[in-house]
Amino acid sequence: MEVRRRNPDRTEQVPGPCTVAELLERLDLNPTTVLVIADGQLVTAGTELGADASVEVRPVMSGGAGAPARCHDCGAAAVHEEPRHRSAWCSEHFGDHVERQVRHAIDRGDGDDRRMFSYDDHLLVAVSGGKDSLALWDLLLRLGYRADGLYVGLGIGGYSTRSQRVVEDFAARVAAPRGGVLHQVDLEQEQGFSTPQGAAASARPACGVCGLSKRYWFNRVAVEHGHDVLVTGHNLDDEAAVLLGNVLRWQDGFLARQRPVLDAGADNQVRRAKPLYRLSERETAAYCVVRGIDYVVEECPLVDGNTGVANKDLLDELERRSPGIKAQFLFGFLDRAPQLWPRSSDDVELVACHGCGMPTPRPRDEHPPRCAFCRQQDRVLDALPVH
Ligand SMILES: [Zn+2]
Ligand SMILES: [Zn+2]
Repeated sequence: MEVRRRNPDRTEQVPGPCTVAELLERLDLNPTTVLVIADGQLVTAGTELGADASVEVRPVMSGGAGAPARCHDCGAAAVHEEPRHRSAWCSEHFGDHVERQVRHAIDRGDGDDRRMFSYDDHLLVAVSGGKDSLALWDLLLRLGYRADGLYVGLGIGGYSTRSQRVVEDFAARVAAPRGGVLHQVDLEQEQGFSTPQGAAASARPACGVCGLSKRYWFNRVAVEHGHDVLVTGHNLDDEAAVLLGNVLRWQDGFLARQRPVLDAGADNQVRRAKPLYRLSERETAAYCVVRGIDYVVEECPLVDGNTGVANKDLLDELERRSPGIKAQFLFGFLDRAPQLWPRSSDDVELVACHGCGMPTPRPRDEHPPRCAFCRQQDRVLDALPVH
């Protein structure tokens, strides 16, 4: 059979027939870190693959393994199994399962049981072209929310070109017919430099420069277009990895703010929400395949060496040994956080930035307040060669 592997893209011939589990063993792959797609359909461990099957093995970085291969709801052949829930589902019921998890996240919010947002709110979804953000935009529109998208062009060569194409295609094909509008910000045009240029000019890690720019533009576009809530595609694996990092260093300020929903703290700031925090990366990837959502499978080429990735790998290993441990870690924290790290413990007084008018912590000295984004602009634009 012909087996397509990703990251890097390549094709190899594997003698068949064999089961999916046997194929993964031959390829020396941990079944919890991949999706297997045979002739366009998701397949589970016990599925027999013919000698002339065309198979894709798609990395998703995390998740769980398991045995059941019948749908929990209807008994039909399952396309996805989730050991954390000790369940498997057919395409249709897997979609229902994902919607239920998002519904629960939106209605229950977090340990405080507050709703993330209501049908009166106008949402802005930060879309990157990856599986999480496109699944999220699709789910919110499907659930009947008013949700627009925002794509920020980072200027990272072919990766950005492909991401933008995927987002524009989704916006035209899926979002527009349901009333979702795509907004776009091109960093090089709007702030004078792309992510790689900013990282080189300021000699800082690309992820730091990129994260600061993105957070700024997400909030600013939401404010300027009158959106009530900025919604991001952070999933269970992302949040568990961030939590591990915060706990390892006991960063109380970060722990107090690590909530699925954060209210605006000042004028010119919108509420932020993470409705996918109850779903693993493997679930959002499978959701995209089941719903026919094309997404960019490759990871950002600048992410190499990011400590967040190391924490994810550690948690993947723990999850492989004890399915469900990631969810216990994160949900247990969210249940306890309101008591242990009350919101008030992180109250910072916000004032308007002298440069851009957006909120920033009040400076300790008498200097005019200048936000982290404006300080980055000063640093990078000074260091860049004059055009
Ligand atoms: Zn079913
Ligand atoms: Zn500013």
